[in-house]
Amino acid sequence: MYPPWTSPTRAAQILADGGVVGIPTETVYGLAGNAFDPKALAKIFAAKERPFFDPLIVHIAKIETIELIAKDIPKAAWKLAEAYWPGPMTLVLPKQDCIPDLATSALSTVAIRFPNHKIAQEIISLTGVPLAAPSANLFQHVSPTTAEHVAEQLGNRIDGIVDGGPCFVGVESTIITFIEGKPVILRPGAITPEMIIKIAGSLTIKQSVSSPGKAMPAPGMMDKHYQPRVPLFYGAIPIDATPPPHTVRIAFGNTKSRIDATLNLSPTGNLTEATANLYAFMRSLDKEKYDLILVDPIPDEGVGIACNDRLRRASLKYFPSQN
Ligand code: AMP
Ligand code: MG
Repeated sequence: MYPPWTSPTRAAQILADGGVVGIPTETVYGLAGNAFDPKALAKIFAAKERPFFDPLIVHIAKIETIELIAKDIPKAAWKLAEAYWPGPMTLVLPKQDCIPDLATSALSTVAIRFPNHKIAQEIISLTGVPLAAPSANLFQHVSPTTAEHVAEQLGNRIDGIVDGGPCFVGVESTIITFIEGKPVILRPGAITPEMIIKIAGSLTIKQSVSSPGKAMPAPGMMDKHYQPRVPLFYGAIPIDATPPPHTVRIAFGNTKSRIDATLNLSPTGNLTEATANLYAFMRSLDKEKYDLILVDPIPDEGVGIACNDRLRRASLKYFPSQN
């Protein structure tokens, strides 16, 4: 059957048998496999064409499971887990031996998340093991926020897709590691710096960059990671620039521009709504007939920080003027 739509119960059976399944979470759709089974993990990398140096996030459905897969857990990690799990927050912690090297790109740490999505939780609980699940897209493409997005790219490569409707957060989780017990943000997400400081008291923001061939501390940080195929420019059009003929624009709020808005992330300027729409809008305008996708500036606050991070990585560094 194409696409291979399936139910949570059947998905759990497929996963327990070593298969890989696209599952909904609140952030983006994940491509799940048994985190303890190297063969299932290999299938995830193959389906996504993901390089082995890009480690996976392991998903759990109760906080206590953290102790099965991680050790030497700092106090701040427990506090953050109690405060924001289930939710869009990934904790990077020293790993237990039961986690195969393939899941962590041979790093001594493992990334763990308890998603706030009833269907994801049901699938993890029914399968009875933690599930490794990177975003369910081809490597370096925009992450999927609907089941249809997963079907378009991976439908004929994987064993099932569970449709849980559109993701309600819409950007990947905040990734937090710990240095000397203190939290450090590696990738911004919907759990904001203020929210982390409130619980942990302190915070360093250190977005990592990639070095080719090496395991990355947070590989979602590669510049190409979020780029659509049509060139995208993030920000206002420079005054003296002439946009290419088939330029489309993703607006935010009531920002003025010389190019009419094709889509609006949130007419009222609501950051949560804008974030939930961002990837779906980028995909819907990623069509050969367009020369350029413009995206209006988004305020650098709250979840807007995560949108800015992704959009800056997706953007051309210079405006492609026709002059
Ligand atoms: P994706 O779901 O495609 O965003 O991929 C999962 C992301 O989790 C990776 O790209 C890394 O950014 C991050 N990650 C996974 N394991 C680790 C780890 N051990 N240390 C730091 N970051 C990690
Ligand atoms: Mg990804």
